[in-house]
Order: sequence, then C-alpha cells, then structure tokens
Amino acid sequence: MRLSRTLAVLTGLALALGFSGACGGGSGGGSGGSGPAQTGVVGKAQQSRKLVIGVKADQPGLGLQTGSRYEGFDIEIAKIVAKDLGVDESGIEWKTTTTPNREAFIQQGTVDLVVATYTINDERKKKVSFAGPYYVAGQDLLVKTDNADITGPEALDGKKVCSVTGSTPAKRIQTEHPKAHLQLFDAYSKCVEALGQGSVDAVTTDDIILAGYAAQPQFAGKFKVVGKPFSTEPYGIGLKKGDKSSCEKINAILTAAASDGRYKAAWDATLGRSGKPAPTLDTSKLTSCE
Ligand code: GLU
Repeated sequence: MRLSRTLAVLTGLALALGFSGACGGGSGGGSGGSGPAQTGVVGKAQQSRKLVIGVKADQPGLGLQTGSRYEGFDIEIAKIVAKDLGVDESGIEWKTTTTPNREAFIQQGTVDLVVATYTINDERKKKVSFAGPYYVAGQDLLVKTDNADITGPEALDGKKVCSVTGSTPAKRIQTEHPKAHLQLFDAYSKCVEALGQGSVDAVTTDDIILAGYAAQPQFAGKFKVVGKPFSTEPYGIGLKKGDKSSCEKINAILTAAASDGRYKAAWDATLGRSGKPAPTLDTSKLTSCE
C-alpha cells in the first residue's frame, strides 16, 4: 500500500516536471540531454539523435541533390538547427519534398522539419507551424536573355508563364494576373527546361531560386532574372502545428547563428559564392510560433 502510494507521488512529480519542461521557455543553445524530458521535434532529437528533414532536390544554391548528397543554403540552415538540437550531420535523413507535399509530409510525420524555400503564410499556418523567417525572397520572373518585352508581371497578359503547383507565386499569377497563361509543373527545373525549349515565355517563382538556375553552367548566358520582385516571401522552417516549444527553440538557434557567424558562413558557402553578400537575419521578425 505504502509503496504504491509513494510510486503514485513520484509518478505525479515526474509528470509535473516533464510537463513544466515541455512548456518552459527554454533558453536556446545546446542540446542538453540531462534536463526534463522534451516533447515534439526537440524531444525526438534529444532521445534518438536523429531527424528527418524535408528539403528541395532541384534548386541550385538552395537545395540540390547530387547522388545521395544534398547541398545549398537550406541544407546548411537545416544542419545548424539539427546540430543545436543535438543531431550531427550523420543523424540527418534528408527527404526530398516538393512544393505541394510539404504540409502533408509534416502533418503525417513523414518529415520532422521542412527547410525548403518554404514561404510562411496564413493559409499554411492553419496546417503547420513555422519558425523563422531565416531569409526573405521576392517573386520574380526568369526569361530568355534576348527577351525585351517581359519587363514585369503586368507584361504577362497572353504570355505562357510556368510555375509549380501549390506555390505562392503560382497562386499570385492566378489571382492577380489571370490573363497570363499559367503552365504548372511539380518542380521548377521542369519549367526552366520548358523555357530553354521555348515552350513557355517565362518562369516565375522566388528571385533567389531563379538566380540559382540562371547561374548554372549549362544555362550560361541563356536566361536573365527580370529583377523587379513583386512579393515578399519569408522563408520559414516548417514543423508540426502546435509544437510550440520546438518552434521557439529553433528561433533561439537562428538567433544564436545570426550573432555567432554561422548564418553568414552558411550563406557564404552556398548562395554567397556568386558574390552576393550575406543578408542580415532580422531576429525581430521571427515568428511568435503561434
Ligand atoms: N517560396 C514559395 C513557396 O513556398 C515558392 C518556392 C517553392 O515553391 O518552394 O511557395
């Protein structure tokens, strides 16, 4: 009798401690391992030292797969986050995601995190939570170098413009430029191929993605980015909706990386190789993880 009562008290205490740990603010930084049990992505990382991270596979400079290797700015950001959650590169399983499957992959638990040029917006926030933004892009247009008539989105009427299903740029063309003939694929690389073959007049998505294609050696001199961004695309790190403590922890990691030089190093090793200087990560704009 007495033993079971003691056990009950101890169990209650453990639950209380665990509960307060999961809801506590957390101070960011190291992965710990000795503190109270964590839940969500932070808990998984702590317990298994493994994470499955969804990334793009065909976006040069951001997320590009060559054989089993993934590289790019998103990959470097993902590695920083994983490391501070206690997961080494060897514990990361990279999973290719496409624009339309990111919410489902998070909701179904196919991936723990998504770092994949993933714009934070209210519609997506109904299904997933976002840490970040760690970068702010803008929608732009990619055209053939000799194209002189497509100077901005207002010049797209009657033109064939290619984008990806489920993307924010595709939606913006549908709603704000309905006279453009929108062609949809599941990956931007297919749009770029179509532009090369002349079957579309322009490709639209985030400027930083388009710049990555234009800089590819096989396209040298063929394409240009129009260079007049017409939206704001804040890139977030997607995770399961409601995993607030993990989201806050990731924002704390981004804040630390912005001040200790790791954010700049991630840029310089990837997108920065084109000469574009590293942006400053505005930590005052980080999400409230709601
Ligand atoms: N950032 C935009 C989005 O999340 C376009 C890039 C992409 O499709 O990943 O929809």
